[in-house]
Order: sequence, then structure tokens, then C-alpha cells
Amino acid sequence: MQTKSLSARDLDVIWHPYTQMQTAPVPIGMVRGQGALLFDENDQSYIDATSSWWVNIHGHAHPHIAQQLAAQALQLEHCIFAGYTHPPAVNLAERLLQVLPGNQRRVFYSDNGSTAIEVALKMAIQYWDNQGIRKRKILAFNNAYHGDTFGAMSVSGRSVFTRVFDDLLFDVHFIDVPNAANLSQLIATIDGLQPEDIAAFVFEPLLQGSGGMIMYEANAFDQLLQYCKSRNILLIADEVMTGFGRTGKNFAMEYLQTLPDMICLSKGLTGGAMALGVTTSTAAIYEAFLSNDKLKTLFHGHSFTANPLACTAALASMDLFMDPACAANRQRIHEKHRAFLQELQQIAIVKHPRLLGTILAFEISTTNADGYTNSLADELHRFFRARRIMLRPLGNTLYILPPYCITDEQLEQVYQSIRELLREA
Ligand SMILES: *Cc1c(COP(=O)(O)O)cnc(C)c1O
Repeated sequence: MQTKSLSARDLDVIWHPYTQMQTAPVPIGMVRGQGALLFDENDQSYIDATSSWWVNIHGHAHPHIAQQLAAQALQLEHCIFAGYTHPPAVNLAERLLQVLPGNQRRVFYSDNGSTAIEVALKMAIQYWDNQGIRKRKILAFNNAYHGDTFGAMSVSGRSVFTRVFDDLLFDVHFIDVPNAANLSQLIATIDGLQPEDIAAFVFEPLLQGSGGMIMYEANAFDQLLQYCKSRNILLIADEVMTGFGRTGKNFAMEYLQTLPDMICLSKGLTGGAMALGVTTSTAAIYEAFLSNDKLKTLFHGHSFTANPLACTAALASMDLFMDPACAANRQRIHEKHRAFLQELQQIAIVKHPRLLGTILAFEISTTNADGYTNSLADELHRFFRARRIMLRPLGNTLYILPPYCITDEQLEQVYQSIRELLREA
């Protein structure tokens, strides 16, 4: 019999991500999940209002995903993916290509969002290199977030996340997100950067998540992408967080006319059940790697590439995602959010309340600067934890990003806790 609680044992052995271990509150031990709820060691329920880091779309421990996973585990749990293949990988690739925007033809598997980005960056640089064209620069947005590995960090905005490593990251041109007012100036900036040296532009379409749930408009963005295309800059759409219905459409790129050359997926891909990353490409990208010359191979892979269990979870998640009930749920959340947004607009300390699909976000006015290290974040986190609502602000940016199965009553509880917070603040 263990006498110590899970939380206490954790303190002796675990090092948590993004956590200052000296000052962080003791973590809550979660032992089971159901729908939008997680239950702790004392069987107290918590509402998962940010989908467990944006990955969970259909709810926790979903029976359909669990059953498919169990069956696959008894069938084939893993298999080397060079020289061999298996049904979950092929089935998933076929299904993804059917639903992804237009022109995507090939699926490359990896383990998570960061690796999906690493793969896309390598594909882009080598796509040109294989044709004897040396392009070494990447274009990205200020405030971007594409992951925590070195390549993904390099194309992410310089911030407290990257500060210690900044001089080790490769050179990237950063520009602001576009709007009607700054578009022509952005294009002039890129023109001045020798666009012929730029291999690719990597972006989070319409929504910069970790940067602070920054939302930007499709129209100017489309024109920026068109310009990049005209300058032979490959377009990498990082849909790691925007994919699978988050922004209202199945994929954020569906709001745009321009088609990307590559798409990165993870997070909601498996419904949040397993770690899996995907990088898709057009036929043109893929064909640039076909050769009798072995040096033109894409030399990238991971031990768990296309893990059959992860692919199975993704297939099961897609079954649920393609069910019209899923879109209806997303619409329901959107409408509830819209009503709450109107309420927020009346509150003086609420800045920039905004809504995209199932994501509602706003800043809380403070005397400190906006941003991730704003000290308000810890206070807010504690406030909601005490009310058993799992909301984890980005600095002074508060956002709700729920699993699509969250009930109206649960959503109302989340809103109510925010109302209380704003009254006290
Ligand atoms: C979370 C995220 C990543 C990184 O994914 P991980 O699985 O955490 O490595 C990349 N891009 C975007 C847009 C993300 O939100």
C-alpha cells in the first residue's frame, strides 16, 4: 500500500514541463477522465476547459477510441516503417488526404507537432537543394510558436521560451501578421530580403496559439500567401493546433483561397489519445526527392514513425470527427461563446475579446506588460484550480478551448467562474 498521495510522490521524482519547480503549486493527481471532465485522487471532477493542451477534441477516455486502441494493441502494436507498412498507417493516410485542403498527396509520419515542423523544414530546404538550388532562409511570423525542438524553436518568435538559446538558432526572417493596413509594407519588406533566398514561409493560419491566441484576418493573409507563391517561397501551414475543427472549418486553410505546399498536423489528430505528428506534401515536393541518386533521399525518421496504435487512435478520432454530430457540437459551442463574448464586451478590464470557431480569448488589463511572463497568470491559474476549472492562461491572456463534447452546463460553469474572476479583479 502506498501511503503517500500521488501528488506527494510526484514531488520526489518528476520534472514538469514549462514549470518553475521551486514555486509551482503541488500538481493535482488525475486518475480518470470522462467527456470534458477529469477526476482527481479524491474523485473530485475538474472541467477540462483547454482540452488538455489543445489535444482533446472528443472528450477523455472515449469508448470508441479506447476500443479501437485495445483491438489494435492485440493485433500489431508496432512495426519498423522503412521497408514495411501496415493497415493503420495506409488507412489513415488515405483518409487524411481526402479531407485535407486540395492538393496534398503524400503523408509523412512523425511523433508530435515539433517533429512535424522539423520534417516540413527539412523537406522545404531539400526540395530546393535536390534541384541544385541553394535557399537557406525561412520566413515566419513574429509571435509564432511552432514547437520546442531546435528547428521548431528557430522558426518560432524569439521569446522567454527561446531566450537562453537565441544565439544557437538559425537565422529566420520575422514579419508581423498581415492586415489591410500593413500588407503592402510587409510585401515591400520581403522584397527587400531577397525572396529568391527564402526556401519557405511557415505560419499558423489565422490563429497564433501560444503567442497569445492572436487572431488575424484571412483576406490580407491570402494576398501575402499569393505574393510568396509568386516568389517561389514554399508555404508550410502549421495546423497543429488549428486542425480538426478548432477554428470552425475542418482546417483553418479552408478560410483561404491559396493552397499550401505542406501541412503539419498533431494535437487533435488522435483526438488527444496518442502522440502522433503528420507532415503532408504536394506531389511536386514529393517528386523532387525521387531519384537514382541516394543523396536525394529525405533522411529523416523516428523509432516510432507511424506507430500503429497512434494511427489507430487517429482513425478512430476521424470516425468521430466526420460524424455530423461533431460539427453540430462545434457550432453549439461557437454560439454559446458568441453570447458570452457580448457580455465580455461590456466589462472594462476585458481587452480585445475575440472569437474564432470554438476558441474564445481576451486579455485582462493589468499594470504590467502583456505577455507570457505576466505574473497574473499564476494567480489566475490558482483561482480557477480552486474552482475545479482547468484554465491555464497565457500570461494575462485568458482563453477557453474546450473539447467539442463539453455540455452547455459545463460551459456555463466555466463562464460563471470567469464572471466571478472579473468581478473580483
Ligand atoms: C503545440 C504546437 C506545436 C508543437 O507541438 P508539440 O506536439 O507540442 O511538439 C507546433 N505548432 C503549433 C501551432 C502548436 O500549437
